[in-house]
Amino acid sequence: MIGILLLMAGLWGLGAVFRTPRRARLWAMAVLWAAVGLGLAALPAGHPLRTVLGEDLRVWGALTLLALLGLGYGLLVSRLKARAESTQPKAPTTPAFSSEELNRYARHIMLREIGGPGQKALKNARVLVIGAGGLGSPALLYLAAAGVGCIGVMDGDVVDASNLQRQIIHKDKGIGLAKVQSAREAILDLNPYVTVRPYQRRFEDQTASVLQDYDLVLDGSDNFDTRYLVNKKAAQAGVPLISAAITQWEGQISLYDPAHGTPCYECIFPDRPAPGLVPTCAEAGVAAPLPGVIGAMMAMEAVKHLTGAGLTLRGRLLIHDALYAETRVIEITRRPDCAVCGAHQ
Ligand SMILES: [Zn+2]
Repeated sequence: MIGILLLMAGLWGLGAVFRTPRRARLWAMAVLWAAVGLGLAALPAGHPLRTVLGEDLRVWGALTLLALLGLGYGLLVSRLKARAESTQPKAPTTPAFSSEELNRYARHIMLREIGGPGQKALKNARVLVIGAGGLGSPALLYLAAAGVGCIGVMDGDVVDASNLQRQIIHKDKGIGLAKVQSAREAILDLNPYVTVRPYQRRFEDQTASVLQDYDLVLDGSDNFDTRYLVNKKAAQAGVPLISAAITQWEGQISLYDPAHGTPCYECIFPDRPAPGLVPTCAEAGVAAPLPGVIGAMMAMEAVKHLTGAGLTLRGRLLIHDALYAETRVIEITRRPDCAVCGAHQ
């Protein structure tokens, strides 16, 4: 009889290995069990097969009773559990991807470092981009194309013809439109599956509280006042910041997250240049594809940060010299006496 029980256990295990449904395995066990019972009842005493099967019909009957009791108990517990679950309010779940979205993001989902979970993280992410200019243009377009679910864009300017040499999110027909409006249209034309929140204003003390609604902020603004203020407010709010800047032929970018041990922008650039000392793009000029290179890097770093893929630029500053096609990455460290994130803050 022990042999029969071992045989049943073996069959059950084999079913588990081949992923046979539990119900099918239970039926197979029941048929085997009944066959042995019938054999015991039908065969005359002393029959060799009866000896193999365990001889005593009473023992077999007792075991049957025990098994039935066990099964009944299991069934009762699972019924009660199902009832308890159905009365509990369901936790809010994010909607799954539609088949159109799965097709749209297929090249991302097949990447080992992103996959389905990474794409879902992008969909659930809220990213604020400050400045819909040279850097903001490619950053916004790639965030949208990559499937970042909620994209905020803050800019107080309107589209000017002189922007179109590098601010590729805007169109000639959009001259005179608010940049946030023009950007919103371009983003939704590219990917209607994302949400865009336009803020038609400059980033200032009074408008900084919007940071709390975002998981990550990208600063592509074109002036030092905004850059230093975004850094300060992001550090205070504990929101990671991808900050980039360009001039003429050179660009730089890093991910500042002082809440998690990295330096902030002001740790690296403690001395704010005197007004007028460093010329803006409008004053000094800028090569058209340069903001495209650095702005796309901002989106790349954002995707990595949000999905956990690879090694981001946290604690490292990337400097790109487009004129000589050279890129350097330098380690950067926190400054203990930093006015924004230092120990006395
Ligand atoms: Zn700092």
